[in-house]
Amino acid sequence: MDYRNVKYPESGEKIRVVNDQLVVPDNPILGYVEGDGIGPDITSASLRVWDAAVEKAYGSSKKVHWAELYLGEKAAGLYDGDYFPQETLDAIQDLVVAIKGPLTTPVGGGFRSLNVSLRQSLDLYACVRPVRYFPGVPSPMRKPEEVDCVIFRENTEDVYCGIEFQSGTPENEKLAQFLREEMGVNFFDGAGLGVKPISAFGSKRLIRKAVQYAIDRGHDSVTLVHKGNIMKFTEGAFRNWGYELAKEEFPDQVISEDQLWEEFDGQRPEGKIVMKDRIADIMFQLMQLRPAEFSVIATMNLNGDYLSDALAAEVGGIGIAPGANIADHVAVFEATHGTAPKYAGQDKVNPSSLMLSGVMMFEHIGWNEVADVINQAYPRVIEKKKVTYDFARQMDGATEMSTSGFADALIEEINAL
Ligand code: NAP
Repeated sequence: MDYRNVKYPESGEKIRVVNDQLVVPDNPILGYVEGDGIGPDITSASLRVWDAAVEKAYGSSKKVHWAELYLGEKAAGLYDGDYFPQETLDAIQDLVVAIKGPLTTPVGGGFRSLNVSLRQSLDLYACVRPVRYFPGVPSPMRKPEEVDCVIFRENTEDVYCGIEFQSGTPENEKLAQFLREEMGVNFFDGAGLGVKPISAFGSKRLIRKAVQYAIDRGHDSVTLVHKGNIMKFTEGAFRNWGYELAKEEFPDQVISEDQLWEEFDGQRPEGKIVMKDRIADIMFQLMQLRPAEFSVIATMNLNGDYLSDALAAEVGGIGIAPGANIADHVAVFEATHGTAPKYAGQDKVNPSSLMLSGVMMFEHIGWNEVADVINQAYPRVIEKKKVTYDFARQMDGATEMSTSGFADALIEEINAL
């Protein structure tokens, strides 16, 4: 493919998709987008950690060949003011796997969030957020080690579709009239109106991914989180489609919670995954009081947005929470925080969110040994209380490290394993 600014490293090979499976060479080209604000700081630190972990895991037999791709302000400088160049989308699709730092949403009319645009353009329908505790990380929980779950949030539907009609506009009045006169429903005059589409297709492809993930990684349950008691035909339908999918597509692997009690007296048979569902409001409570009962969680866009940040706060918050946005094959891993512009270029912030998103990326391509190396080394640095400012202010006796200093400390632990 001919690109204007993107250059693939000549020594690397592309990941391919064959029969729905990723085929990963020993020298894969992975795309990365540095991002805006603190993006360059956390990306350069993370790249060094990832390379060190690959070397530790595989010596010289495997190596990532990184291809820089451009979005946001850096892209605007290279592509005549275009923050969202098509060739970056083409390259991500071509390389299949990429990782990105945070992006500024330019303020002013006409700009959509670049992150939302990226998810929509590449149909990255599953937002995946693992939430787990590393010993030593400051947490408001009494037993944070009990929090260990992975949230699958649907990324393309729900009230995030932007189907909204402002109060006082002709479109709003037309819809209000239709709803009152044709559909027989009523509401206050001048109400703003929004539409919440939830489809079987959108729900099932998200829940399918969550169930498959649970099967592949040996998790024991998938919990559907919804407000189906109130929104029966959207959130309630999501729940029903989840159980339907389990019956149709995973009859040998998944049992419902009802079956668990009726047929197995509450004892989960070895190897089976229990599908259960919980109302969203009680789920927030349960995740504080009894988090150990939950493992993989599947939910819609708005619930997932709230739930993923609330759960991340239980295990260290925004500086550490990793994430990914995934389509059927293409996957973009990302820092879950923003560009924190007041800290840009200060070599100050915590690189963990991006760095641990890289751990997810290595697991995704099947390089689990690399993920293991980082997962082993990371808590050792935290236990020595060598942490960036955000953790240092919550810990007694911590040594405050710069972004690059934290990466150096981590690489030292990796080399010492
Ligand atoms: P933000 O950049 O996430 O920063 C909010 C606060 O979170 C920071 O002031 C800082 O807290 C803390 N923080 C963020 N990243 C951190 C890190 N790596 N280490 C330690 N602390 C960190 O949110 P924002 O200020 O609302 O948004 C700024 C820009 O980012 C906006 O343009 C927004 O559109 C964009 N954004 C992008 C993404 C994305 O690309 N995925 C996501 C969210 C927002 P303290 O001030 O307490 O130190």
